[in-house]
Amino acid sequence: MMTAPKQPMLRGELRLNEPLKRYNTWRVGGCARQMYLPADADDLAVFLDSLPPQEPLLWLGLGSNLLIRDGGFPGTVIMLLGRLNSLSVEGDEVRVDAGVSCAKVARECARANLTGAAFLAGIPGTMGGALAMNAGAFGGETWPIVSSVTTIGRDGRIHQRLPAEFKVSYREVVRPAEEWFLSCILSLKPGDGSAEQAAIRSLLERRAATQPTGQPSCGSTFRNPQGDHAARLIEACGLKGHRIGGAEVSPKHANFIINTGDASAADIENLVAHVAAEVERQQGVRLEAEFHAVGEPS
Ligand SMILES: Cc1cc2nc3c(=O)[nH]c(=O)nc-3n(C[C@H](O)[C@H](O)[C@H](O)COP(=O)(O)OP(=O)(O)OC[C@H]3O[C@@H](n4cnc5c(N)ncnc54)[C@H](O)[C@@H]3O)c2cc1C
Repeated sequence: MMTAPKQPMLRGELRLNEPLKRYNTWRVGGCARQMYLPADADDLAVFLDSLPPQEPLLWLGLGSNLLIRDGGFPGTVIMLLGRLNSLSVEGDEVRVDAGVSCAKVARECARANLTGAAFLAGIPGTMGGALAMNAGAFGGETWPIVSSVTTIGRDGRIHQRLPAEFKVSYREVVRPAEEWFLSCILSLKPGDGSAEQAAIRSLLERRAATQPTGQPSCGSTFRNPQGDHAARLIEACGLKGHRIGGAEVSPKHANFIINTGDASAADIENLVAHVAAEVERQQGVRLEAEFHAVGEPS
């Protein structure tokens, strides 16, 4: 007797043709062919193992460092925000799931009288995105406070790894091929939680004063070149306020490109290319984009 192939038991949510505009801070981009929102890490392992081996995968946190192109993503988006969402404190160690927001990590660490994570407060991403990007601000960086991570492979297998197994540099992390972050353990120093909370408030005020935080962007568009600032170079080229379609070089901070309302991903990509070309022509410096561009042009 023939038996039907076994279907994996999935407990998460699968959405087909999901518009991605609402999942990134630039508010642009087309649809994902499908998006999976896992119930938990075990469910994610079953889902990954059920995919064809060549399926294109995009891991999405808060989409605060992603340019999703207008033609969308022709594969599966894995969405962890609000799904892998637990955080627990034990002594001076904090276990954080990849879908927890950086702001919550900073807040909860301060509440537990632990110091060293305040810089995460103004980074509008998830812990998974911070690990993938080695996110940092105001002198702090993600990986120096990480003592171990848990990753998952395309086959659904789970690995415990130490920081020494990753090549970590400025806004860049090379990790074992086809592995993504599920959680991490942060090692922090005991200290004065109220001083840490005051530090968080002061960092957020500095951001609001210098960055167009209320407008759609991906934060810093370009990495700072060694010994200089991308914003200084862009401003020196007279590019503040320069527009292509609905994309604009922020008049408040030259390294932010903002969506003024109706920008397409192509407008943003064209403006990024124009700014890079002008800085190279006028200042002789080749700027590199900090964000990741994914998907197909329309
Ligand atoms: C207003 C604003 C201010 C910002 N300020 C800063 C700043 O001060 N410092 C700074 O460093 N950045 C800053 N950023 C950029 C951004 O917030 C960070 O890079 C952040 O770490 C990205 O996290 P995310 O969850 O949004 O990742 P996403 O944008 O969703 O993804 C970024 C990359 O990480 C990958 N990724 C996401 N989750 C995982 C996972 N679980 N496992 C493996 N890969 C994964 C994605 O595939 C993608 O390649 C800013 C952005 C904005 C909009």
